[in-house]
Amino acid sequence: MTVRRVRTSWPAILIVGAVLVAGCHTTPPAGQTLPVLVSPAPSPGLPAPKRTAAPTARTDEAADNAVDRVIAISIDGLNPRAIRKLGQSRTPAFQRLMREGAYTVNARTVREQTLTLPNHVAMVTGRRVDDKHGGHGYTDNLDNGRTVHQAAGHYIASVFDVVHDNGGSTALFASKIKFTIYKRTWNAHGGPDRVGRDDGRAKIDRSTIDGDNTRLVANLTAELRRSPREFTFVHLSLPDRVGHSRGFMGKQYLDAVEHTDRLLGRILDTVAARPALRRHTLVLLTADHGGSGGQTHYASNNLQNYRIPFMAWGPGVAAGRDLYDLNPDYRNPGASRSSYRGKQPIRNADLANLATDALDLPRVPGSEFDSSHALNVFR
Ligand SMILES: [Zn+2]
Repeated sequence: MTVRRVRTSWPAILIVGAVLVAGCHTTPPAGQTLPVLVSPAPSPGLPAPKRTAAPTARTDEAADNAVDRVIAISIDGLNPRAIRKLGQSRTPAFQRLMREGAYTVNARTVREQTLTLPNHVAMVTGRRVDDKHGGHGYTDNLDNGRTVHQAAGHYIASVFDVVHDNGGSTALFASKIKFTIYKRTWNAHGGPDRVGRDDGRAKIDRSTIDGDNTRLVANLTAELRRSPREFTFVHLSLPDRVGHSRGFMGKQYLDAVEHTDRLLGRILDTVAARPALRRHTLVLLTADHGGSGGQTHYASNNLQNYRIPFMAWGPGVAAGRDLYDLNPDYRNPGASRSSYRGKQPIRNADLANLATDALDLPRVPGSEFDSSHALNVFR
């Protein structure tokens, strides 16, 4: 995203506060524009109109995208073909995301692997896997009892760090016990496994791990109503679970995607029903891998495994737009797997910095994907 905005949440308030204290004695340097607070415009529904900057501000720099919360949803093992196959009647929530949001059904995993944990670590760190090229280094698909920092040999920052260290609050809702790796890595430790820049503070303020997807979403929606965080990461696992036991893209798998659509619908309805959420929440949705025609998704050179969806929904998001049409700096990879050279496809690992960008925060330190905040989902 290239359009910058004036925040109406705490950083702008802090800046304005500093100006009020110091403003009696100083004037801003030539060329420096003071931030101007803009009142949110009432909106009956999504997508809300983008707030515009005050006339004195540089409009290209200060247009407001209205987002001050991000809910990032990863659906484990979601082959985007399933959404098309099931259609409007059986996937109304996915269809709503595509109709009211910006999306592609031809995004990519990281190139190296189509496994759950390496891709999920990439989503929150904005890094590839290969640690010889700046990747996060976590190649195991199970919780090996260590941290991502230990896998890489140095501290690996995440979107949780950036949001937390800038005064925001973060939450994790995951449906597989192996997401303990997130908790162990980005929760307070400071003990013997302390690595690099680890300041010993928890970067994930609340975490819930529950293998019952329905109960997990009930917990999530209650939390969204009660005390929404600036960044919430949600992992839903039903399609992957059924894919492993009954085969990906088979009848039972498609039923699992339909069931997951209902859970997604509850999340979207919760956001849409509350103006305070609806006007300020960006929902992102992607997957760690797909899968088809078998009970695994481990071959990283198989299109059915490396092709995933990427969707964005919220105030100011370009409704119904294809993300590749919106982003000429990215290249639709067709059916190819895509290397890390040249124009990139949209990847699940773009999620971390799309979130920091939408929240008007700096990029995740050490990240590679969307580290220039170029990916745009807004009108
Ligand atoms: Zn799996």
